[in-house]
Amino acid sequence: MNTHRFRKTWLLLFPLFGLWSLGPSCSSNQVVTPEEHLRTMRLQMVEQQLRQRGIRDERVLQTMAEIPRHLFVSVPRRREAYDDRPLPIDEGQTISQPYIVALMTESLLLTGTENVLEIGTGSGYQAAVLSRLAQRVYSIEILPRLAETARARLAALGYDNVTVILGDGNYGWAPGSPYDAVIVTAATPHVPQALLDQLAAEGRLVAPVTRDGVQHLLRLRKGRRSITEEDLGLVQFVPLIGGEP
Ligand code: SAM
Repeated sequence: MNTHRFRKTWLLLFPLFGLWSLGPSCSSNQVVTPEEHLRTMRLQMVEQQLRQRGIRDERVLQTMAEIPRHLFVSVPRRREAYDDRPLPIDEGQTISQPYIVALMTESLLLTGTENVLEIGTGSGYQAAVLSRLAQRVYSIEILPRLAETARARLAALGYDNVTVILGDGNYGWAPGSPYDAVIVTAATPHVPQALLDQLAAEGRLVAPVTRDGVQHLLRLRKGRRSITEEDLGLVQFVPLIGGEP
């Protein structure tokens, strides 16, 4: 063999092997891996659906830019995970629209030290977002299959300050109370008294409440003597089930 030609070919090929070994993103053809594509979609979601619509809390924006929402939906739904809408999950339930997750989370005014209660674990996505913004999260889900899947998913992804409880959220979770923040992710005709009782002084509670057939997203704040209420706008959630017969 002509050694000169061999050396020349090797010298030409060597840089290509070097690039190839670093992975597809380094090739001159700009191959984008599925993970990179999903990350790009997630960042677009944050800019276009959240920031441009008025979400201002940088901690919320940053957290939602990091959490892989596509891992909280079924595999065939992953490409839709960053769409501007809720998506179906198992048992006829839904994972909320990203903007609504951001709005509700921002409304809780979390600083990182809070003990939080969520009613309606569903996919576990909202709980994952809360887990990065508060100290401790208890999340109650009434449907056993959803509770089991969300518990396993959150544990596998390392959200280890979240406890998923199988039960009826109408009664809250007294052993974990008092809560600095409570979030209800299913629509109710009135905020269950147990949730107000388990809310700490100065605590915030966000819930979709149905009045005259329309759902209003309400934020309640527990003062020393009274509870104040703000209407954050109209929403559409699946109904809260269970409660008093
Ligand atoms: N937060 C969820 C997420 O991030 O995927 C979405 C919640 S989905 C809109 C509403 C959830 O509330 C459903 O999973 C439903 O089974 C649950 N749910 C309904 N009534 C409930 C109750 N009384 N107690 C606890 N969970 C309830």
